[in-house]
Amino acid sequence: MPIRILAPEVASQIAAGEVVERPASVVKELVENALDAAGRAVSVTVREAGRKLIEVADDGNGIPAPELSLAIERHATSKLQNANDLFQIDTLGFRGEALASIGSVSRLTITSRSANSVSGARIRVEAGLAGPVEPIGAPQGTVVRVEDLFYNVPARLKFLKQDTTERRAIDGLLSRYALAYPQIRFRFISDATPVLQTSGDGDRRAILASLYGVEVAKQMLEVLAEEDDPTTGLMRLTGYISPAALTRSNRKEITFFINGRWISDTPLTQAVLQAYHTLLMVGRYPLTALFLQIDPQEVDVNVHPAKAEVRFTNQDRVFSFVQRSVRRALLAYSPVPAMPPTQNLWGGGQSSGFSGQFSGGGEPGIGLEWGIAHDNVNAESRAQNDESGTVPQGDIQHSVFSNLPLLRLVGQIGAAYLVAEGPDGLYLIDQHAAHERVLFEKLMNQRAHQAVPSQALLTPQVVHLPPASASLLQEQLPVLRKFGFEVEPFGPGTFQVRAMPALFTGSDPALALRALVEDFEEDEAPLQTEIEAKIAGRVCKRLAVKAGQALSPEEQRALLDNLEACESPRTCPHGRPTMIHLAVDVLERQFGRKGAR
Ligand code: ADP
Ligand code: MG
Repeated sequence: MPIRILAPEVASQIAAGEVVERPASVVKELVENALDAAGRAVSVTVREAGRKLIEVADDGNGIPAPELSLAIERHATSKLQNANDLFQIDTLGFRGEALASIGSVSRLTITSRSANSVSGARIRVEAGLAGPVEPIGAPQGTVVRVEDLFYNVPARLKFLKQDTTERRAIDGLLSRYALAYPQIRFRFISDATPVLQTSGDGDRRAILASLYGVEVAKQMLEVLAEEDDPTTGLMRLTGYISPAALTRSNRKEITFFINGRWISDTPLTQAVLQAYHTLLMVGRYPLTALFLQIDPQEVDVNVHPAKAEVRFTNQDRVFSFVQRSVRRALLAYSPVPAMPPTQNLWGGGQSSGFSGQFSGGGEPGIGLEWGIAHDNVNAESRAQNDESGTVPQGDIQHSVFSNLPLLRLVGQIGAAYLVAEGPDGLYLIDQHAAHERVLFEKLMNQRAHQAVPSQALLTPQVVHLPPASASLLQEQLPVLRKFGFEVEPFGPGTFQVRAMPALFTGSDPALALRALVEDFEEDEAPLQTEIEAKIAGRVCKRLAVKAGQALSPEEQRALLDNLEACESPRTCPHGRPTMIHLAVDVLERQFGRKGAR
């Protein structure tokens, strides 16, 4: 083929691909435009996860009618005049690409009235072809309506994820912008359901509470740091970070805004993690919402069309400032890095201490040959590795049999382990992991017989969840019902728990619901059967007895009996060992009664 210049619509579709990847990227561009236009209220409406409709309305400056047809041209912007301005950017937009890109892959309608004109105007663009500008009555501000996104780019359409995933991406984005701009009133409506609403009164902690629930918001620590660095000039870091005890299993809740711009992939995330160094368990990450203000000259935002990455002129300085500021806030509030019992039990304190000794592989620190009773570490539990980074692997001897011999209970030690004697030696049992296994098998058994007994709560409990979690939970309600949970939507982001599985009588319903949604990965879309096992596993993990809880002899006995009755008593549902077995011959060798080491 000879070389040819691409037809303009092809070229613009290619370019659009860099800016508009999915519905959430459209929402991002339009919300940024609304913020640049100094809107006080931004309202986002979405239908079918944005495939059908994305509408962003603001009460900002508006676009004068004569400029409407320019606004949709590529490289047309009111925010930049010359190349020097690129290093002084104080608006979110500057590339003049978003509206043109969106217009080339959807049916776009812009209706706007600028501050000093008496009537509004409207323009429509379909697959990049603009119609005439028509006068129309409109309130001051701008409404951008994007219909049938990617209708003319079937390849893009094919790459979109499930609606739930796309919706979650939008939820996550808007939650973050709401946090970043507490003085702006945000409203988000998805398929006629209000999902997010902020008051615009500037109270960030209130927004945190509506996103993560009051308990989480109460625990979050405030960061307020300023430094006039000789090289970089004034830097200011504000926002909230979680205390060391409040964590997630992934980095997705580490949110960073730099000069009002959400940067999803910043080296500063590493600075935050370093600030938490030694305070967090392996595989756990903090929640943060941090906002860095820095001289625009110090940041290059023009790295990527989606403007989601930045480069710093003096990266080391910024990095160190962020790391120190976060660390200081962290230590100021919790001088002694303490883990509350709820965190300790699961891969925490004691058990990671243990595995620390195991991880030496062939040379355990205490000179014993520990055999870990460790049978069915299945594929599913390996997939959970994010959480189980400390599960000892490698030199572990895998038992071939899975049923337990009859055990005689000796007692409890450290309020965390049961000690038992079997015909073949000593057993140390992790009470939390064991209880988790017991609950899990009982629940799955009842489920298999379609008979999970349910226990109505005396007073139904209302639980509030952040938008992304709420939509996740909403999808899982039918599954939850099968497990004996009676949960009903109770207003935006709010659910009412009316009944729980009888197995969990007395446990905190809010804890159970949160366990279901908080650690779900964005792209998790497992098969139905996997969902059930996963859901059961999560709830059991959260509601099982904790390390640090003293058990009465009857409770110890019952736990042991129940464990013996399990099909796979040697691991918890997530694949961690429930017990350590010290065989008789190991004891004999250790005491020099048999053979030589
Ligand atoms: P950019 O934001 O990079 O300038 P866009 O394509 O997003 O490019 O927008 C083009 C221009 O249209 C903007 O520079 C701005 O002047 C105008 N514009 C877009 N959205 C709005 C809005 N919501 N309110 C006022 N003006 C807007
Ligand atoms: Mg823009």
